[in-house]
Amino acid sequence: MKESQPSAIYLKDYKVPPFLIDKTELTFELDEATTVVTSKLHMRRNPDSKENTAPLVLDGGEEVKLVAVAMDDYVLPSGEYQLVDNQLIITATADRFVLTCETLIEPQNNTRLEGLYRSSSMFCTQCEAEGFRHITYYLDRPDVMSVFTTRIIADAEKYPVMLSNGNEIARETLDDGKTSVVWHDPFPKPAYLFALVAGNLEVKNDTFVTQSQREVKLQIFTEAHNIDKVDYAMEALKRSMRWDEEVYGREYDLDIFMIVAVDDFNMGAMENKGLNIFNSSCLLASPETTTDDTYLRVEAIVAHEYFHNWSGNRVTCRDWFQLSLKEGFTVFRDQSFSADMHSDTVKRVEDVSFLKTAQFAEDAGPMAHPVRPASFIEISNFYTLTVYEKGAEIVRMIHTLLGAEKFRKGSDLYFERHDGQAVTCDDFVAAMQEASGVDLTQFKRWYSQAGTPQIRVVDEYDEQGQTYRLTLQQETPATPGQPTKLPLHIPVRVGLIDQSGNALSASFNGDSSDEHLLELTEAEQVFEFTQVATKPVPSLLRGFSAPVKLSYDYSSADLLLLLSADQDGFNRWNAGQQLAVNELNTLIEQAIAGEALSLTSNLVEGFKALLQNDNLDPAMVALILNLPSQAYLSELAQVIHPNAIKQARQYLKKQIAESLQTEFAQAYQQHQVTGPYQAEAKDIASRSLKNLALSYWLESGAETAKQSVVDQFESADNMTDQFAALSIAVHNGHDKADNLLDAFYQQWQNEPLVVNKWLMLSASREQEKAVDSMKTLMKHDAFDLKNPNKVRSLLGGFGQNISAFHHVDGSGYQFLADQILVLDKRNPQIASRLCTPLTRWKKMAPELRVKMKAELERIMADDLSKDVYEVISKSLA
Ligand SMILES: [Zn+2]
Repeated sequence: MKESQPSAIYLKDYKVPPFLIDKTELTFELDEATTVVTSKLHMRRNPDSKENTAPLVLDGGEEVKLVAVAMDDYVLPSGEYQLVDNQLIITATADRFVLTCETLIEPQNNTRLEGLYRSSSMFCTQCEAEGFRHITYYLDRPDVMSVFTTRIIADAEKYPVMLSNGNEIARETLDDGKTSVVWHDPFPKPAYLFALVAGNLEVKNDTFVTQSQREVKLQIFTEAHNIDKVDYAMEALKRSMRWDEEVYGREYDLDIFMIVAVDDFNMGAMENKGLNIFNSSCLLASPETTTDDTYLRVEAIVAHEYFHNWSGNRVTCRDWFQLSLKEGFTVFRDQSFSADMHSDTVKRVEDVSFLKTAQFAEDAGPMAHPVRPASFIEISNFYTLTVYEKGAEIVRMIHTLLGAEKFRKGSDLYFERHDGQAVTCDDFVAAMQEASGVDLTQFKRWYSQAGTPQIRVVDEYDEQGQTYRLTLQQETPATPGQPTKLPLHIPVRVGLIDQSGNALSASFNGDSSDEHLLELTEAEQVFEFTQVATKPVPSLLRGFSAPVKLSYDYSSADLLLLLSADQDGFNRWNAGQQLAVNELNTLIEQAIAGEALSLTSNLVEGFKALLQNDNLDPAMVALILNLPSQAYLSELAQVIHPNAIKQARQYLKKQIAESLQTEFAQAYQQHQVTGPYQAEAKDIASRSLKNLALSYWLESGAETAKQSVVDQFESADNMTDQFAALSIAVHNGHDKADNLLDAFYQQWQNEPLVVNKWLMLSASREQEKAVDSMKTLMKHDAFDLKNPNKVRSLLGGFGQNISAFHHVDGSGYQFLADQILVLDKRNPQIASRLCTPLTRWKKMAPELRVKMKAELERIMADDLSKDVYEVISKSLA
């Protein structure tokens, strides 16, 4: 039994801070053994607080050792302050005072990777959400914004580069030979945006001239062996800066913008003011070591963190319940940027595919929560797909309802009105509403209701009156703590198509067009179109205009028509997916019933037509031919039978491969890319279709395909093609798979990011005794439990290894639970994220369900961090 369980905090209990910190002066005496942190906080009582006699309560971490605390030069004796539950409490304070704290921390023993820690030879920080309290005592909440001045003292031989937020204002050599560097950030910010880096780093320099002709110095820092891999990130940064000026009118504000790559990082990257810190996996790129996917990811994340300078830093969150204020908006901004840089439709398909697989599953599981959560135990658990991806969908819906021009007016008003403030999601919506005149009162329910809404559509065509009626019904299922839901305001983009695939014009609300925006606000609503010349096939929810599950009783013929002719590229993909899902669901039922599998639809003919159509974007063809993932099929299932799903997918892939062997062999040749590697849309598209074709071609059993896989592996001049060949060999049981895996490791053993890909692939490989093989991999030189990227690669890869993870003897669940318990003692954030596959236990087939639950109960019986406690206890509830 545990002594006490962590408790939740609630949005409804929010109060303004009783104290403010106008200025924060920090001094770090960096040292490998013990770092001394001295803070001088210029504080005053908050005139907006009603608690004008409240004691001063500062947050700290258990590893922060308080040496001395003084108020206006008066050193407080131990009787005049208290240290309780990691808080420093001072009862008697003036209305205005300077609080000085001296604390000791041990960055090299910081395994949580929150606060100040060591990553290889450097010092770095991660303070969002509540990392700053692991550095010193502070009002560690986003609505306390302060102007920071940071002095770093260190041995310049070891740490020639010493960075913090803002501009460098002083540098001197001290009497003891150490170097002191002072940074000043003129923009008030919350502590979560504080950053410090010190190390022996190389730098890549560049400049950017803003729209008002100011020159900004750009710098990317890495360890020496990686500095040749930052050119792409630098170009992406400049494209982002230009785009934000052109599309949002937002200009960069400081004289310098810095990015630092670190190897040990819990998240992807962090938008600290003027000093972004990146997980090296999200920054470094070179053709030899980086796949197309990662190139696009680097560009998107560089953009995302840069865009935060306005949506997050200049205007920040009042409290952590409002996290989506900055994240939803910024994800929407980076998605729009990537769409503008490459293909709009491809980007949308990829984002939606991810949302429907992973966010929908979260929204239907035990951790389901609104985009603006009402409570949490540990905020780190709420950096979720719901807050980020569904949050972005909410902003996208506002964009759809307002139109681009009014949306821009709204964002201008938001930035102008709230610059330098910590605000709420309501403030964001209010600015959008005020600037546009569009009523968003009901729309705001999207922020407070969890769960994925379901829309059922039926239609009716009156030939004589030439009218067409669509009846839409919406319902949002119950989620934990929210048994009943209200109707939402849902934008549904709809087009009509005639039986030959042509766009069909119709009149709706006096507007004659072949596409319309329906605004569904009632539980049930009828939309009537007039002047409809012939019975249409509806193309519903074009561009995925709302994050909902929409159902309409399409025939296979309708879906084939939409697949081949819909004017909306997104819906063409969606029709192809729906056809494949229908076929797979039939196969899954056959597999569960123990029947022989057989195809029932004309999916293969549809796919054949796609492969033969030279007018299509190869990237779209590849996306459509890529069968719905195991994870997506699991999300759709009422009860998940992992092995039946696997069997169905394998069978369908083999049938398609055998039927279209010639077409795939041709496509493989036809889409070869010549010339040097470029991470550009056209080449990426060709490579994606070529490699998908190779995978089907090998599946068909053709001997020539086997040789082509080996040839491609050996002769590829870029990681995309080499790794594709390797993955295909491993997942399709190529007889040379072992040799290729070994050769790959030998070739790349000194490139950690490539080794991580090898770890992930090795862990996801289907084989006898996969758990034993995992235990061997965990002892391999390539693995390191301290490094979050390696943990994610190996244990994340294992989660995709269906037959091993879901083995009926429960050994896969037991293995993962063991790792969670070990990691929770070191790094609670990473441990908590590893719990996700186990939290889906209620949807599993009965024989698996009991075994998963037993492992959750075993974890629960341990002494847990708040992070893991929250996820496991909610899963078992
Ligand atoms: Zn972000």
